[in-house]
Amino acid sequence: RGRYADQPEFIQATSRVLASIASAVEAEPSYERVSLLDRLVEPERIVMFRVPWTDDSGCVRVNRGYRIEFSSALGPYKGGLRFHPSVNLSILKFLAFEQVFKNALTSLPIGGAKGGADFDPKGRSDAEVMRFCQSFMTELYRHIGADTDVPAGDIGVGGREIGFLFGQYKRIRNEFAGVLTGKGIGFGGSPVRAEATGYGLVYLIEELLADSGQHFEGKRVSISGSGNVAIYAAKKAEQLGATVQTMSDSCGWILEPTGVDLAAIMQIKEVRRGRLSEYAETHPACEYHSGGGVWSAPCDIALPCATQNELRRPDAEGLLRNGCKVVGEGANMPVTPEAIDLLISSGVTVCPGKAANAGGVAVSALEMAQNSARLTWSFEDVDSRLKTIMRGIYRASAEAAAAWGVPGNLIAGANIAGFKRVADAMMAQGIV
Ligand code: NDP
Repeated sequence: RGRYADQPEFIQATSRVLASIASAVEAEPSYERVSLLDRLVEPERIVMFRVPWTDDSGCVRVNRGYRIEFSSALGPYKGGLRFHPSVNLSILKFLAFEQVFKNALTSLPIGGAKGGADFDPKGRSDAEVMRFCQSFMTELYRHIGADTDVPAGDIGVGGREIGFLFGQYKRIRNEFAGVLTGKGIGFGGSPVRAEATGYGLVYLIEELLADSGQHFEGKRVSISGSGNVAIYAAKKAEQLGATVQTMSDSCGWILEPTGVDLAAIMQIKEVRRGRLSEYAETHPACEYHSGGGVWSAPCDIALPCATQNELRRPDAEGLLRNGCKVVGEGANMPVTPEAIDLLISSGVTVCPGKAANAGGVAVSALEMAQNSARLTWSFEDVDSRLKTIMRGIYRASAEAAAAWGVPGNLIAGANIAGFKRVADAMMAQGIV
C-alpha cells in the first residue's frame, strides 16, 4: 500500500481482488514460494509518453499518453484506450489489473492491458482529434503489434478514433495488421463489436435470471450512461421485453417510466454527439434532472454503464428501498466497495464488471481471430459466440463461488475463476 499511496483506484481494485481470492491462494502454498501475488500486482511494463499536437488555432498542446502492459500470461496484451481528462496512472493501472482477470474469464487467449491519455475529445473538431490520434500512435506504434499488444476503444475512444489510430499505424509500419480492435467493418472490424459489451451484459444477466426461472420480460431496468455500453445494453434489454426507464450523461439523467426512445438517444449521442438534455426538449413526457440521482427511480435491475465509482452507498440505499434485485456492472468498477457490501448483505446479486462487461473484449478477441484468418464472420455467428461466452463466464463464476464456499457471490467467483486461469499459466511459465 505504501508503494502505491498515490494510486487510490489501483489500491481499491487490488485490495478487493486479493481479499476475495485469499482462500484460493492459501490452498496452494507453492504460490508463495514464487511470489505469485507480488508478480500479479506488478505490471510487466508501463510506457508513459508525451503527445504534442496542434489545435485548430495553431496552438501546440501537450498531453500525456500511457500504455500499461500488465500481463501476457495468457496471450498478447489486450485492453482499451481511454481518452478523458481524468486519466492518470492509478486509474489505468486499476483498469489494466481488472482486465487481466476479465480476459481470463472469457477463456480466450488474451493477456491484460489498458492505456490512453488525459486528452478530452469533447468539443474538439474531427481534425483536432485526428491530429491527436496520429501523434499518440507515432509513439505507441513501437510498443504494440498483432502478436504483442492489441489496444481497443474505451471512454472517449470510439470508431472515429480507432480509425485515425489504425490509419497512422498502417502508414508508419507499412502493414495492414490486426493491431487494433473496434475497427470499421469495412477494414477488418468484427460484426457485433459495437454492440458486444452492452449485449454481453444483458446475456449474462439473462443467464443469472434463468437460474431462478426468471427473464427480462416485464422487468424495469435503470441504466446510467448513454455511451456505447449503455445504449446497447438498453437495446438488448428492450428486445428481451424489459422497460428501460433511465439513462444519464455527465450533465444529468432522464426518467421515462414507459421506456426511453432509444432511436432518439442514439441520434443525439452517436450522431450529433449532443447532451441528454436535448432528449427532454423533444420528449415532453420525460423527466430531465440535472446532476446525479439516476438510481433514485424504482427498478428491478440496475445497470451502471457510465464510469467508475458512480453508484455509492446512498444510491445503493435508494435501490434497496425501491426493490432492486440485481445490479450488473456494465462499466468498470462503477459500484463502490461500501455500496457492494450493502447490496450483497441485503440479498441483491451483484454481477461484477470483469464478468458482466467482458463481452466487448471477447468480441475483440474474435476480431483478432478473424483478422488472423483474413475472414469476416456473420453478425449471427459472432452474436451466438458472444452469447455462449457470456453464459460460460456466468457458469464459471457461479461454480467457483460455490466451490470456494461463497455460493451466489459472483464477485468472489469471478475473481477466483479468473485468478486460477492466470495463476496456472504463470506457474507453468516460470519466474518471469
Ligand atoms: P462512452 O464514452 O461511450 O460513454 C460513457 C458514458 O458515461 C457517457 O454517457 C458519459 O457521459 C457518461 N459518463 C462518463 N463519466 C461520467 C461521470 N463522471 N458521471 C456521469 N456520467 C458519466 O464509454 P463506454 O460506454 O464505452 O464505457 C462506459 C464504461 O464501460 C467505462 O467504465 C468503460 O471502461 C466500460 N467498458 C466499456 C467497454 C466497451 O466496449 N465500450 C468494454 C468494457 C467496459 P458524457 O457523454 O456526458 O461524457
